[in-house]
Amino acid sequence: MTVGVAGRGRNRYLRAMSEADPVSVPMPAPRQRKPDWIRVKAPVSAGYMETKRLMRSLNLATVCEEAACPNIGECWTRKHATVMILGDTCTRACAFCNVKTGMPRALDPLEPEHVATAAAELGLSHIVVTSVDRDDLPDGGAGQFVKVIEALRRNAPATTIEILTPDFRNKAESAVEKIIEARPDVYNHNLETVPRLYPTIRPGARYYASLRLLESVKRHDPSIFTKSGVMVGLGEQRLEVHQVMDDMRSADVDFLTMGQYLQPTPRHATVEEFVTPQAFAAYAAIARAKGFLLVAASPLTRSSYHAGDDFEKMRTAREARLAAAR
Ligand code: SF4
Repeated sequence: MTVGVAGRGRNRYLRAMSEADPVSVPMPAPRQRKPDWIRVKAPVSAGYMETKRLMRSLNLATVCEEAACPNIGECWTRKHATVMILGDTCTRACAFCNVKTGMPRALDPLEPEHVATAAAELGLSHIVVTSVDRDDLPDGGAGQFVKVIEALRRNAPATTIEILTPDFRNKAESAVEKIIEARPDVYNHNLETVPRLYPTIRPGARYYASLRLLESVKRHDPSIFTKSGVMVGLGEQRLEVHQVMDDMRSADVDFLTMGQYLQPTPRHATVEEFVTPQAFAAYAAIARAKGFLLVAASPLTRSSYHAGDDFEKMRTAREARLAAAR
């Protein structure tokens, strides 16, 4: 039977039916109210509009838009956008991610030059380049990362480069090695959550494969900074998060980012908990004690949030640590 009831009327109808027969009528989940510390300003500034215009004119996708990032107003006002290469369609379907899933289009051969043009026109001192997963490509899209790094070095030589890559699961190790040989300044790959939640939150990935990827970057080239992030609020336990920190340190990860998971649409995984700013501060203190060069942990931290400033801090922290060891 189809019931033609929409919106609030539909909810009232379902509530009445549910009271009449609580077993057979499912109630829609109540909308989760975000705590005050999550609220952000709407993006309206001239800088925001300028960043948007440039991205559209160069036909570039951004994870800022695709992931419905809450920081877009602040970041784009500062002309800091995270470019998403390899198209806008992902071959995976992670339960936390808003990027569309499907069969992606062919690679855009102009994409590397367009990314470099965006970096030059925005006057970026640091750029973050990420991508969708491309399990359909023999190298998982590693070659396009290399071309983007090369184009940036040619056209924006003063810009430092941070890449945030997929896991390249089931691809030849040489694919990742080519990216390492192109020498990005920062290699980021997010573990995203604790291993227990992988089957539901990140079903196409494997925790230890992601960890091995981070470890292999450092093994091949210790001068490249490595970085990884987790979202909290997905139902993880505190001690599980501490274990992830230990695992990252055993892979010699330099920089940990931690932020609150936010549900992009009702189809995605629900928020199990809004972690307080105080709890983030406690996580950060533990992480620092475990030896990370840098830790960024707050409700609105995302892996690319303030990435340029954090890169400078990481460089300074490494120099200080090397000086202390001499
Ligand atoms: S935090 Fe990262 S993804 Fe979010 S708007 Fe800023 S640059 Fe984009």
